[in-house]
Amino acid sequence: MTEVQLQEFKLEPDSELRFEVESKNEKVVLEVKSGYAELFGTELVKGKPYEFHTGAKVAVFTWHGCTVELRGRTEVSYVAKETPMVIYLNVHAALEQQRVAAEQENTRGPVTMIVGPGDVGKSTLTRLLLNYAVRMGRRPIYVDLDVGQGHISVPGTIGALLVERPASIEEGFSQQAPLVYHFGHKSPEENIELYNTIVSRLAEVIAERCENNRKASTSGVIINTCGWIKGAGYKVLTHAAQAFEVDVILVLDNERLYNELKRDMPNFVKVVYLPKSGGVAERSAAQRAEGRDARIREYFYGRRTPYYPHSFDVKYSDLKIYKVGAPSLPDSCMPLGMRAAEALTKLVSVAPAPALQHRLLAVSFANEPDDHVPHCNLAGFVCVTAVDPERQVMTILSPQPRPLPNTVLLLSELQYMDNH
Ligand code: ATP
Repeated sequence: MTEVQLQEFKLEPDSELRFEVESKNEKVVLEVKSGYAELFGTELVKGKPYEFHTGAKVAVFTWHGCTVELRGRTEVSYVAKETPMVIYLNVHAALEQQRVAAEQENTRGPVTMIVGPGDVGKSTLTRLLLNYAVRMGRRPIYVDLDVGQGHISVPGTIGALLVERPASIEEGFSQQAPLVYHFGHKSPEENIELYNTIVSRLAEVIAERCENNRKASTSGVIINTCGWIKGAGYKVLTHAAQAFEVDVILVLDNERLYNELKRDMPNFVKVVYLPKSGGVAERSAAQRAEGRDARIREYFYGRRTPYYPHSFDVKYSDLKIYKVGAPSLPDSCMPLGMRAAEALTKLVSVAPAPALQHRLLAVSFANEPDDHVPHCNLAGFVCVTAVDPERQVMTILSPQPRPLPNTVLLLSELQYMDNH
């Protein structure tokens, strides 16, 4: 059933209004009329209209009570009194105590990793804890290891961001100067060796940066992870925990994972079980694909603030395109002294061809195609919008005007159809 037009909700303290915008090209405007409310930890300004578009699944929470108005078509809209927000707030308070202790003792603030299966609200809890920290005057580091969604850059990457102000309601955390590494696939499963390599590298770089930034170091790190938690997925998680030397693991809604981590983590790592919110919506494979597409579109064209990308032709001969990971062969077939796994982080040259149409290319900071390329962070992304084998040129969509920097381009499995 679709509800239309104007709806007003009176929320009691400790309750939340949940709504979803599903119909195509629909827009819902939210406004707080009185009282105080927040959205995943960001305070809403009274009387200010906030727009939500197709695919948005939103919860407006209030600690003190408020009146909220919604204008437009919502697929679902209801007020929930049962939420895990008090438990999440207690987690924040415990992390805050550790930050205070870190300040006093001149040590590192808490490094927290959030884990759990798909659709339990990991990204939402990450955002909430970062927002609460920054509202207390902290400068935490946000790490996203979820290559399937790509909250910091585009899907197929992992990255980190210094959070200096709360997430914008409509656009999320400010994307200034993120540290991003190329993976090139939607799941760590596609190349576990490469995934672990870049996770270790990201952890190393963050540790170095924290040495030079006392404020960030005491504020700590919050790490969002993928929903792949079984078998090799579990090993990937424990590797990340080790690489980042985590202090706290928050396990959302999965007792088996909680027990496994309790058993396998050293004693100094606190493993905490948390319930998921009843509001977290499950997403179908199609909705996830749409989400990925929207993320890439946003990268090139912006969301609320529009960006104007450039489109230009580049000659085949001017492109240095590689993919990471040679096909894996048994150890016995490898050159002397090389393990099969090592091939998975090696560069393989890719010849420009029509098959590359719609593919994303990561623009590396590396100039030369050597073994260190996977360890180098990215300057950004371009997309191949057309290929002309006769003229031997590719048309490139790029956030920067021509020319393309003369660096290594890394082929991603992700595609984007530019029909803007
Ligand atoms: P994945 O593993 O797929 O990345 P996740 O565990 O990180 O998923 P989220 O992305 O945090 O899950 O949440 C899934 C969806 O549910 C999001 O669209 C989010 O906006 C929505 N959501 C989260 N919490 C609530 C809530 N309390 N009420 C309504 N919607 C919510």
